Amino acid sequence: MVNKESSDEKNDVENNLDFEKDKFVILAQNLTRDYEIGEFIVRAVDNVNLKIKNGEFIVIKGPSGAGKTTLLNLLGGLDTPNSGVVYSNGVKISAMEEESLATFRLINSGFIFQNYNLISTLTAEENVMFPLSLAGVELKKQRERALELLEKMNLSDRREHLPFQLSAGEQQRVAIARALANDPTVILADEPTANLDRKTSEFIRDCFKELKKEGKTIVIATHDDFLIQLADRLITFEDGKIVDEINTF
Ligand code: ADP
Ligand code: MG
Repeated sequence: MVNKESSDEKNDVENNLDFEKDKFVILAQNLTRDYEIGEFIVRAVDNVNLKIKNGEFIVIKGPSGAGKTTLLNLLGGLDTPNSGVVYSNGVKISAMEEESLATFRLINSGFIFQNYNLISTLTAEENVMFPLSLAGVELKKQRERALELLEKMNLSDRREHLPFQLSAGEQQRVAIARALANDPTVILADEPTANLDRKTSEFIRDCFKELKKEGKTIVIATHDDFLIQLADRLITFEDGKIVDEINTF
């Protein structure tokens, strides 16, 4: 039995979202994600509301285990919530089947992971070409785009290298090139400078500075002070919740 009042309330909320969803690149409402391991339930993301405008540079900081990675995955459509909704580019991705979600991610969400996640059997160039090939780009264009991006990342001379033949920093730069391949609407980066030496960190920070200049919408989980300085909005996340939010522009 659905209580009429709460059902009306739900409709109101949905009508409001319907009205708002096109004003934001990402709109998340009452987002909750539980992990169930045996008899334990961990609430990694707990009833989060977040609205991200086109061109915003958002930094999420917070202690390890706060739920930052889980939140990024939900916002980018790598994971689906137990409850709540996520609209990305006006599309309700939280209720999508995996197959459509994969297609959506390919064009809309560029992920940069903490541990790079390159495909170990593909060269640097092939790793960047991979999302382009999935998006149906013709081979010649895939190659051109991959070379252009690898050049930007100062990696032209590493294009034939397999991931294990690359340093950590080089792998992360390939991963950034891959994330940008399909020119996604949103770039989601999970502690992208966490495991890197100073020089590479600086290079990667400059990449984000450049992407910000280009007006990309960016969401980064990080503790890197330089990246924090670039933020239009700094969100502190703890125990699955937004506990503080500072607008810096
Ligand atoms: P953060 O990125 O802020 O360190 P995470 O999103 O990785 O936090 O994790 C949030 C919480 O969810 C942690 O308590 C973690 O143990 C738990 N968690 C994350 N991923 C999984 C998973 N795949 N299965 C079970 N528990 C998980
Ligand atoms: Mg994390």
